[in-house]
Amino acid sequence: MKVIETIEELKIVLGEARRQGRNVEFVPTMGALHQGHASLINRAKESPSGEGKREGACVVVSIFVNPTQFGPDEDYASYPRDPDGDRANLQSQGVDVLFAPSVAAMYPNGEIATTVSPGRIAEVAEGRWRPGHFAGVATVCAKLFNIVQPDRVYFGEKDAQQVAVLRQMVADLNMPTEIVTCPTVREADGLALSSRNRRLDPQGRQAATVLPAALLAVRTLVERGEKSSEALVAQAREIIARQPRISLQYLEVVDPRTFEPVEHLTAGSLLILAALVGSVRLIDNIQLS
Ligand code: AMP
Repeated sequence: MKVIETIEELKIVLGEARRQGRNVEFVPTMGALHQGHASLINRAKESPSGEGKREGACVVVSIFVNPTQFGPDEDYASYPRDPDGDRANLQSQGVDVLFAPSVAAMYPNGEIATTVSPGRIAEVAEGRWRPGHFAGVATVCAKLFNIVQPDRVYFGEKDAQQVAVLRQMVADLNMPTEIVTCPTVREADGLALSSRNRRLDPQGRQAATVLPAALLAVRTLVERGEKSSEALVAQAREIIARQPRISLQYLEVVDPRTFEPVEHLTAGSLLILAALVGSVRLIDNIQLS
C-alpha cells in the first residue's frame, strides 16, 4: 500500500495506474476506521473493471478530517483520530493507496474562496442543525473528486443526506464519477457503527441502542399499514423518551431526495434522526417503504 500525503505525488501514482488500464475506485473517509468503512472498501475492491480495462481496480482510501464541515461549537478538535491503527487496518485490507493530506495541503491559504453551495437540501433536516456542514462536505468532496478523478466513489447510507447532497452535486455539475451507496453496518444490538461511538462511555453505549430500536419499531408499524408521519414519529419519540440519557435533536419522515418532511409515506421515505448521548452526537436512519 502506498501512503501519500501530497496531491502532486497522488496524481503521479494514479496517472500510472490509469496508464496500466486500471479503474480508480475511491472511498473518502475521516478515519478512525471501523467495519462500516471496511464494507465500502470491500465493495470498491469487488467493482467490475470497465470495458477494455486490462488490470484490477486501484482502490484509493482518503483520510481527512475536514475542518470546514465542522461548526465552531462542534467536535473537530475531539473527533477520533487513529492514524497508525488506520494505516495498519487499510494495509491488511489490501487497499492500494492511502491518501492522507494535511489541512495545509487541502487549504493552502487557510479558507478557500470558491465553495460549493448545495442549495435548499443543505438547509433542511441535518442541515438545520449544522449550518454550513453540507457546503463544507460538498466542497471538500469536489476537491477530492478533482484530485483523485475516480471512476466510482463509495458512500454509506448511514449518512443518507450526505449521499443526497453529493448525488445532486455530481448531477448538477456534470462530474464524471459514479456514486455507489452501501448499506449501514450495525453492531449486533443494532447500533450503527460510527467513529464517534468510540467516545461513548459504557452507559451511553448501552443507552444508544434505543435509537435503532425506535427505527425498527417504526418500520414494524409501517408494515402493519400505518402511513401517517405524525403517528410514526410519535411512536419513535415515545420509545426514545424512555431513555433519559438521550436528547433528541430531530426525528422526521422525509423525502429521500430532497430531505423535506412528508406528511404521508411515499416511495423511499426515510425516518431520520440525530441525538446527543451525553456530548456525543449520533445520526441514524431507516428506509420505511
Ligand atoms: P466518515 O469517516 O464517518 O466520514 O465516513 C466515511 C464513509 O463511511 C461515509 O460514506 C459514511 O457514510 C460511511 N459510513 C460510516 N459509518 C458507516 C456504517 N455504519 N455503515 C456503512 N457506511 C458507513
